[in-house]
Amino acid sequence: MCAITAAARGRHVIVLDHANKVGKKILMSGGGRCNFTNTGTTPENFISANPHFCKSALARYTPWHFIEMVERHRIAYHEKELGQLFCDVSSKLIVKMLMDECAAAGAQVRTHCAIERVTVEDDGTFALATSQGAFRGERLVVATGGLSIPAMGATGFGYELARQFGHDVLPTRAGLVPLTLSGKHQERMDGLSGVAMPVTARCNGMAFSNSMLVTHRGVSGPAILQISSYWQPGDTLTLDLLPGRDAFELLKQWQAERPAAELRTVLSDTLPRRFAQRLCEVWLPSRPMKQYTPAQLREATQVLSAWPLVASGTEGYRTAEVTLGGVDTAEVSSSTMESRRVPRLHFIGEVLDVTGWLGGYNFQWAWASGHAAGQAV
Ligand SMILES: Cc1cc2nc3c(=O)[nH]c(=O)nc-3n(C[C@H](O)[C@H](O)[C@H](O)COP(=O)(O)OP(=O)(O)OC[C@H]3O[C@@H](n4cnc5c(N)ncnc54)[C@H](O)[C@@H]3O)c2cc1C
Repeated sequence: MCAITAAARGRHVIVLDHANKVGKKILMSGGGRCNFTNTGTTPENFISANPHFCKSALARYTPWHFIEMVERHRIAYHEKELGQLFCDVSSKLIVKMLMDECAAAGAQVRTHCAIERVTVEDDGTFALATSQGAFRGERLVVATGGLSIPAMGATGFGYELARQFGHDVLPTRAGLVPLTLSGKHQERMDGLSGVAMPVTARCNGMAFSNSMLVTHRGVSGPAILQISSYWQPGDTLTLDLLPGRDAFELLKQWQAERPAAELRTVLSDTLPRRFAQRLCEVWLPSRPMKQYTPAQLREATQVLSAWPLVASGTEGYRTAEVTLGGVDTAEVSSSTMESRRVPRLHFIGEVLDVTGWLGGYNFQWAWASGHAAGQAV
């Protein structure tokens, strides 16, 4: 996006990528259909040490700008949920669109190009030693992404480069990532793998309502991926197993309507049966509904609306969709993405300490920050 914008302004642009093909994360995103933006994008959908940093770029390149490009290239798309836009056919069409736009604007793209060294010459230009020889440029834009999915070519190179030029890099960790369970917490979930259900996941003042999926190693699904970005080992994480419903009222209603039925039976009509059974083996005593005192119904309400999930960790960068943390935005201009330390050096996309929620926000940040830099380089 940066190359397209800069080349369209008449700049001479070359994109160097060490991978064997461009846009690998676009290709694998959204289950191969690329959730390329979210029409509801606001700065509140991003995590950063400076929540204001993303505002300017997002305001100047909105989801509608990207949608205009998608429509101009006649790529069919649909809204899945909550403003999330996906290709009807394939993510390949998004990569092709960006490559066609690069070609039309005159930006060159080179793959298989490993960058070995970057130095600043006396005249302020950047000199790059690469596996394909030397390159020089008046400006350098670092768009190397985060650490997620190393098998796809992710490296910490952008962070190293930032440090080389005196930038702070805020601690990085995996985000939008499945959580793992261990010890008794894993044993309690034994045999539940494959169970999916809607929940509201809560941690550190944030809440996400969506589905949860029990896996062999722990828990995943959109609600878990979302909350994982706000969770760190030791933090309290709870799940409302009856999202959007008043558990106490529901229990009282069941008690009135089905007094002889056991709690596990009535719960099995609302929650996945295997999960309801396990809940009543480990966390809730199951007996006929009529035997519960109001205080006991309150206790059951607590379990159902704030079920404690004790995660031991995350699956890490191997499966994480994003990397939290990164190049500190305090030393980067929010309007041009230019370094405040080294003139004409820019950072865009995920390498910066700006991380979006699940749902197309991370691509929208990549497009918007790329566009902002492309207008300035
Ligand atoms: C499985 C998965 C699914 C995702 N799905 C979505 C989704 O549907 N919607 C969404 O909004 N976001 C999604 N994301 C997140 C999104 O892909 C990223 O936030 C986004 O791609 C970041 O863009 P970027 O240009 O900053 O970095 P990247 O897309 O990671 O691109 C970085 C580029 O730099 C190159 N590079 C890295 N190191 C070097 C080096 N040393 N030398 C030369 N080149 C280098 C890489 O090869 C790569 O081409 C997903 C991520 C993953 C992992």
